[in-house]
Amino acid sequence: MSYCASRFRTIRRPSVEVKVGTVGVGGKNPLRLQSMTTSDTQDIEATVRQSVALAEVGCEIVRITAPNPAAAKCLREIRQKISAAGFAHVPLVADIHFLPQAAMEAVEHVEKVRVNPGNYADKKKFNVREYSDADYERELQRLHDAFSPLVKRAKELGRALRIGTNHGSLSDRVMNRYGDTPLGMVESALEFVRICEAHGFHDIILSMKASNPKIMIQTYRLLAARMDTAHRPYPLHLGVTEAGDGEDGRIKSAIGIGSLLLDGLGDTIRVSLTEDSVYEIPVARAIADKAMALWRDAPEGMTNDESRMANGSDQSSIRHSPLVISHSGTDQHDSIDPFVFERRVISEMELAPACRLGPEQPPRVIVRASLAELADPSSAIHSQKLKDTPIEGVLVPIATAADLTQVSASLKAAAASPVFVVLELAAAITPGDLKSKIEDKKTKAPLVLLRRFTGNDGALLSDFAAFARDRGQVLACDIALGDFSPLAAALRSLGDTNAIFTLSATAASAAHAVGAYRQLAGELRKIGSRAPIWIRNTPATAMQGDNSFLSKLLEASFLTGGLLCDGLGDLVSIETEADLARSAKLAYNVLQGAGARSSKTEFVACPSCGRTLFDLQTTTQRIREKTGHLKGVKIAIMGCIVNGPGEMADADFGYVGGAPGKINLYVGKQCVQYNLPQTGADERLIALIKEHGKWVDPAPALAP
Ligand code: SF4
Repeated sequence: MSYCASRFRTIRRPSVEVKVGTVGVGGKNPLRLQSMTTSDTQDIEATVRQSVALAEVGCEIVRITAPNPAAAKCLREIRQKISAAGFAHVPLVADIHFLPQAAMEAVEHVEKVRVNPGNYADKKKFNVREYSDADYERELQRLHDAFSPLVKRAKELGRALRIGTNHGSLSDRVMNRYGDTPLGMVESALEFVRICEAHGFHDIILSMKASNPKIMIQTYRLLAARMDTAHRPYPLHLGVTEAGDGEDGRIKSAIGIGSLLLDGLGDTIRVSLTEDSVYEIPVARAIADKAMALWRDAPEGMTNDESRMANGSDQSSIRHSPLVISHSGTDQHDSIDPFVFERRVISEMELAPACRLGPEQPPRVIVRASLAELADPSSAIHSQKLKDTPIEGVLVPIATAADLTQVSASLKAAAASPVFVVLELAAAITPGDLKSKIEDKKTKAPLVLLRRFTGNDGALLSDFAAFARDRGQVLACDIALGDFSPLAAALRSLGDTNAIFTLSATAASAAHAVGAYRQLAGELRKIGSRAPIWIRNTPATAMQGDNSFLSKLLEASFLTGGLLCDGLGDLVSIETEADLARSAKLAYNVLQGAGARSSKTEFVACPSCGRTLFDLQTTTQRIREKTGHLKGVKIAIMGCIVNGPGEMADADFGYVGGAPGKINLYVGKQCVQYNLPQTGADERLIALIKEHGKWVDPAPALAP
């Protein structure tokens, strides 16, 4: 079962075009950007104002919640006023949970209706029961009866439907049969797809959102694979739900959405941020532009099948090719199961005392510094202020033997030194230079030697490997993918305990750096190596876009975050960011977003909508200030009770709007305190965290 044409190039998944009003989604259309208003829908003026503001910044599809029939009725006037303001071409989507009556009203007024299969016809009671096949069939018939009127009316009116599954708000029926799993999410949507198809209705868009990017990625992959073998290839709406705000929200969204887009999946995207929704659009625009630049740059040498699929032709017979494609003249076998997260198994290795690599060790963080920065005692390399995001490795370029002397002097003089230092050796540097200039000078940090080797460098590679092994150092090998075969014998003799692999600038080129690292994992598997992989974001891996911090953040999330969600990556470096502290912080935030290493509290915060019962932005900021130091703890902050508890899925604690001015507190999925006045609810949350043994006092502030 495959979910995309290639995991090594961005070949767009062909999909049928679905019209949402005048806006085409899928097919040959560009990626469409969308967002959602946060006003009370019955406040018509505010909702129109927000919708127009979104359209003005480039939002192509605007979603508005319709929590009840009264709110759904307001959509008529909202539609009229937005059209009168000059935005008749911007389609509106009604967001429905629970109430088919609201959907039946909304479909009269707007171009698309989103339903959540977990709660459209099912009341969630968290019941645990066995469903016999006959019980299950009866439930499906009930579902058919409840959903069919909407499908028929949408067909009559030419509306589109989004079947939008959310992790954590699956029906009891699906939970009991499939569990809280990607398969359960997919099956939940397909139950609704089958009803649509039974009525000959195909204007369907699907989404599979989760707040955990790994689950979200696996689920969309599974959906694409299942759908494209048994159903029409309907367009996909991508999003990471409850991503939060600021850098973290952008990173989580970019990891999930970017990873899928690089594999060619996705036709419309929403970046959900706990911020004013207009701030979502520039992020979505930048993500979409990077992905679409890869579509246009589909490399030559594509097979006929791939070409047909990339062109979106022959949609009636779309079937994906297996995950074995021709690349640079050799077949590349993917070594990863894309539907199940499993970290690539590596051998244990000590980089420095108390800094190991291994299956149970977190990925380590390296920053790139100049010789001057290494020598500067006030540099962030030596700063105690990076306590929660420590720089573990420092990569310094070594062009000449004199540079080695300088490194040696810097490390001798420094009061505090990095955990380990990586010397990026130019071709002119020999083991003899290392021996004469740096050996026995009592550097305070262990050394890793990074060198590029070409296919003719077998003997040289063996020399460096022997040199490093004799001194207990690690050799980081930067090898172009095409050079693995000629170097195979030398590489096999390296062993796994003092070699690291990374990719050269050209191998990990912008065309599909994720694919290049996947191939690296495949090459290592071929030679039986369990050596760690170092993921490097460098100027050579930079994609389309400017030199802004947002652009660097998105690309780091695509490459490093995407690979970590594939189970690859044991060291990471964001070398595109020159500021050392920012580079380290960005690396830690990407690790946290990918669930690979926790350096602070993780917040799962909904973006807010017309159902929200308190000010989400200020509440999230306030709770973050009080609890943001709790490494490894996950806190969900949800604006409402009807949807929040289900959507917060795997959080440790939840702070959820129960009624206007009232908060419900959760431990896991269990509500333990109801209807607390919002004043004082923060303290009750902290008390709850303490009761469950997850509280630590914040560290005292360090002097500047
Ligand atoms: S959890 Fe937040 S975004 Fe979701 S429905 Fe409730 S208020 Fe709206």
